Amino acid sequence: MNKQIIFKERPVGVPNENTWSLEVSDIPELNNGELLIEHHYVSLDPAMRGWMNDTKSYIHPVAIDDVMRSGSIGKVIKVNNNPNFKVGDCVTGWGGVQQYAITNGDNWYKVDDSLAPMPMYIGTLGMPGMTAYFGILEVGKIKEGDIVLVSGAAGAVGSVVGQIAKIKGCKVIGIAGGKDKCEYLLNELGFDEAIDYKSENIYSALKQKCLKGIDVYFDNVGGKILDAALSKLRMRARVVICGAISQYNNTTKIDGPSNYLSLLVNRASMQGMVVMDYAKDYGKAAHQMAIWMKEGKLKSKEDIYTGIENFKETYERLFNGDKKGKLVLKVKED
Ligand code: NAP
Repeated sequence: MNKQIIFKERPVGVPNENTWSLEVSDIPELNNGELLIEHHYVSLDPAMRGWMNDTKSYIHPVAIDDVMRSGSIGKVIKVNNNPNFKVGDCVTGWGGVQQYAITNGDNWYKVDDSLAPMPMYIGTLGMPGMTAYFGILEVGKIKEGDIVLVSGAAGAVGSVVGQIAKIKGCKVIGIAGGKDKCEYLLNELGFDEAIDYKSENIYSALKQKCLKGIDVYFDNVGGKILDAALSKLRMRARVVICGAISQYNNTTKIDGPSNYLSLLVNRASMQGMVVMDYAKDYGKAAHQMAIWMKEGKLKSKEDIYTGIENFKETYERLFNGDKKGKLVLKVKED
């Protein structure tokens, strides 16, 4: 039997008890060329909120009555005549929030779970890690000596962004919610400064901790923090628009930046990015990140919760901040 989280109703604002249902279904027989994957972990990401909206985006919305979309990782347990996979392969793809997935193997990738634990392949070595890598290097175009500000800094993307910027010789200031997360940035990840946006006034904190302004702002949260960051841009600064989690549950219009003329004054640029555009180079990036990890320069943190039944409560941690690093749900029953 397959336990699945089925998308039932498009939420307005924060998802509620009508948004998803947990359903149990039979696992059908495999057609020719198909494989059956037993999921061990699914990835919980802020983007899930956007995928539920019936609006034009970089990817089509999740359809009502479909399995909730998510990244996933697990093991192939059955193959019906597919030469590219064998039983026992560890594979990652877009399997959705369910215990088993059936696929013809397109867009599923084999990974070696003897080299790194499975959750890392959906975190630092997976989509969020790739977002950080290409976002800060290709869009942020950091160079040694740059002053880099990153929001959502204790999260899956932000924590890697800050560490890569440190590896490249930048000064890094992270913005996160709470004393604990700020201490984590400073003491465990080696950030130079941390701002607790929940207890500090963001404008005065930026004034104090970014005395010389910023060359790159990597934005994961949007809203007021984006606006404040724009006021600190230096000449030819780059603003990377990666996400805007503070706005995803809005029922009113998006809170856009009013300080945008700072781009004009400072000849600065602001560019959006979507990680999938870099898919052909994921392998190269993962290789480099694995080297940094081996050298002890890049740390990966996964926050793992257990039980597909706990999907909704775990998903909510993305928005209330009650987690550190990459949020992962273990769906394999022991
Ligand atoms: P995450 O940071 O691991 O989790 C979200 C974090 O956002 C929470 O832990 C919380 O941390 C913070 N947060 C929640 N509400 C907030 C608010 N109102 N204001 C400020 N911070 C808030 O998530 P992630 O996977 O790294 O993703 C970060 C961003 O990147 C998201 O916006 C996501 O949509 C985006 N993203 C974009 C791409 C792309 O291709 N463009 C790919 C992946 C992710 P605190 O405790 O610090 O508040």
